Amino acid sequence: MGMTRHLLMPRPTPRLLSTVVPVYNEQEILPDLRHRLTACLDLLPCDTEVILVNDGSSDRTLDLLVNWAEQDPRIKVLGLARNFGHQSAVTAGLDIAAGDAVIIMDGDLQDPPEVIPRMLCEYSKGYDVVYGQRCSRTGESWPKRLTAWAFYRLMRALVHKDLPADCGDFRLISRPCLDALRSMRETHRFLRGMTAWVGFPQIAVPYDRPVRTKGHTKYSWREMIRFAWTAAISFSPIPLRMSLIAGAVLAFIGLADGVYAVARVLLGHYNVPGWTSVMAAMCLIGGGILLSIGILGEYVGRIFEEIKGRPLYIVSYRINTDSTYSTYASVEK
Ligand code: UDP
Ligand code: MG
Repeated sequence: MGMTRHLLMPRPTPRLLSTVVPVYNEQEILPDLRHRLTACLDLLPCDTEVILVNDGSSDRTLDLLVNWAEQDPRIKVLGLARNFGHQSAVTAGLDIAAGDAVIIMDGDLQDPPEVIPRMLCEYSKGYDVVYGQRCSRTGESWPKRLTAWAFYRLMRALVHKDLPADCGDFRLISRPCLDALRSMRETHRFLRGMTAWVGFPQIAVPYDRPVRTKGHTKYSWREMIRFAWTAAISFSPIPLRMSLIAGAVLAFIGLADGVYAVARVLLGHYNVPGWTSVMAAMCLIGGGILLSIGILGEYVGRIFEEIKGRPLYIVSYRINTDSTYSTYASVEK
């Protein structure tokens, strides 16, 4: 099975380009972001809007955003009622984006805005998803590189075979693709997997991913593992199937051992001192059962959270945005 072949229809540059930037405690880097992003947007051949989603920051981020929005009407600010996490913050921004194309970009300049013109160029050729692909990870420690490498290989197996390697959420999405994405309101979100899932013509634009120069990463090891787990569990029944297979293997071993024990008794070879093997079998089987129930529980927990149908985020304030959108965005699941 190869990649789906698409008909590429060349199209003009978008009339309006939206850029969605989630920010959480980024006071150190916001002035640099403002400077570089503004410089890039001024050069673009289309109208632009920037949706900065303040994901419950506790530092001076809000003051800086207010100041920026006051001086530039292209800047829209969406303030979430608390910290909802990166994926939900991006979703909030996507929900009010009005452009014919949308860029999703981190606020820490690790996704360089200078790549945007190249993404627009691919959009004009007819691609609906243009994702930034890191061709180097200068300065990142080898454990981070190794985990990133393993993460993408594993996710490809679990989430979607077309999931591109070495890509974050930095990407351009066309309006048709965005509308498809916005119709997917699942609580446990993995946007990369979701964009692969919707299909559409997709292409990579390689870029050098710089290190974070200011501020610090909001993803600790614990959060990275949780994120990978969300991606695996919310996209794929494979962990469930693996516990089924492990159960089948254990049951087979148990059966073979039982037949062997009975046969020995029938043949007159009494084997009373079998304590060790009984204990070993019990531990193995007991452990296997608990593990399987645990995995099952993870899925049941997800079902519980999905079925509550809570909104993905709650907006508490907005600046420079059209208010007809806002009620919609805050009420919609
Ligand atoms: N971010 C957010 N909410 C969070 C965590 C992060 O909006 O709960 C934003 C953060 O401000 C940044 C982007 O998401 O703009 C990526 O976060 P970070 O740089 O910490 O992640 P990393 O690049 O280390 O994966
Ligand atoms: Mg970063």
